[in-house]
Amino acid sequence: MIWTSTRDATLRVSFLEASAASVPGDGGLFVPAALAPLERIEVLLALPRAERVERLFATLLGGELGRDEAARLARETFRFPVPLVEVEPLRYALELFHGPSLSFKDFGVGFLARVLERLAGAGDRRARTVLTATSGDTGAAVAHAFHERPGFRVAVLYPRGRISPLQERQIATLGANVRAFAVEGAFDDCQRLVKAAFADARLARAHRLVAANSIHPARLLAQIVYYFDAAAELRRREARAAPPAIVVPSGNFGNLAAGVIARRLGLPIGRLVLATNANRTVPEHLDGAPYRPRPSIATLSNAMDVGAPNNWERVLWLHGGAVERVRAELDWGSADDRETLEEVARLARHGYRADPHGAVASRVLRERVPAGLPAIFLATAHPAKFEATAAGAPLPDALVRALERPLRSEPLPAEVEALALALADGWPESREELP
Ligand SMILES: *Cc1c(COP(=O)(O)O)cnc(C)c1O
Repeated sequence: MIWTSTRDATLRVSFLEASAASVPGDGGLFVPAALAPLERIEVLLALPRAERVERLFATLLGGELGRDEAARLARETFRFPVPLVEVEPLRYALELFHGPSLSFKDFGVGFLARVLERLAGAGDRRARTVLTATSGDTGAAVAHAFHERPGFRVAVLYPRGRISPLQERQIATLGANVRAFAVEGAFDDCQRLVKAAFADARLARAHRLVAANSIHPARLLAQIVYYFDAAAELRRREARAAPPAIVVPSGNFGNLAAGVIARRLGLPIGRLVLATNANRTVPEHLDGAPYRPRPSIATLSNAMDVGAPNNWERVLWLHGGAVERVRAELDWGSADDRETLEEVARLARHGYRADPHGAVASRVLRERVPAGLPAIFLATAHPAKFEATAAGAPLPDALVRALERPLRSEPLPAEVEALALALADGWPESREELP
């Protein structure tokens, strides 16, 4: 699979080259250079899930990694189930939260960890440090994906007191090669520190810093898979159903970009609908306003609190850079906190427990998809992770275990000098070295 840059059509790199660099260095983002419908997509959709996932990855990456290696990476990454749950007649939730950290980010980050491990290669003994800022779910996914993975250290920066207590437990109790820093400041401060660390060539080299944020091409690629799961599972249940509408709860728009790519690969999707919370930068633009990135607003669906979405450039590029084409090919809508809570309650009356992010998508689904058409919303996180939706239900085992472990977060002033000092010391002895 050849990749190019959103800002330089002459650039040509392989998937592994793109993954090693994470961004093209011209200010743009990596994107697949050419996307054509896959052959025999009906056959692919009819396969059992495990075989379908392996076949899909062998098709996309086999030329570069070899089909067996591509299939192995797929098998190891997509180890957990993706149930399609009927919520009402012809209305479904695709549950993407059954991985180790209970959000859909486990797919992209889990694959990224395996790709980086493969890139590190044999005989390369000095550990790399995955440095990431998080408002909750990314940090939890990164911590779990790299925990005790030889050759890697993890430093997660989160804003002290501003992520949910359960998210903090998921990030700051694993120990071993995973360190969690509670930054005195907001999420923006964490992101600023991470940027400053990467921009400091000496620091970046000394710790072999690697990034894990949602613009990484490996994360994008992995997220294509569950769109195929959605269409295949619906077809298995309702052989004559029309191609489903899929509604994507969006913040940085990485998930949506993967959905657009899945459709370009020939996956039959009816409507592809983006849904935001009160952070309406993109819906307002699609409604006709100029594109105006802005500071984020805090909402109940906090993983989608993004005012300047970093994957929007990708979505636009995938539509030839023309916002009119985005308008023609996608649908969109948003839900504020009041509407989100109404939807959580409405779904509960139908016997379904949604988290606030999935509820935003479900709400927009009802507004945008006419009754009678099959439609799927992506349920991106487990409801137990959020106070608004946790009440009265048993905690999943992974969270029970996280609660039993002692919290080991380290306080950190919001200054790059403090981060440099913290990274220089305090890692466990050689656990993270390659054997
Ligand atoms: C990160 C996240 C989102 C937003 O995904 P993007 O790819 O950034 O649009 C939605 N829901 C949950 C639970 C998340 O963690």
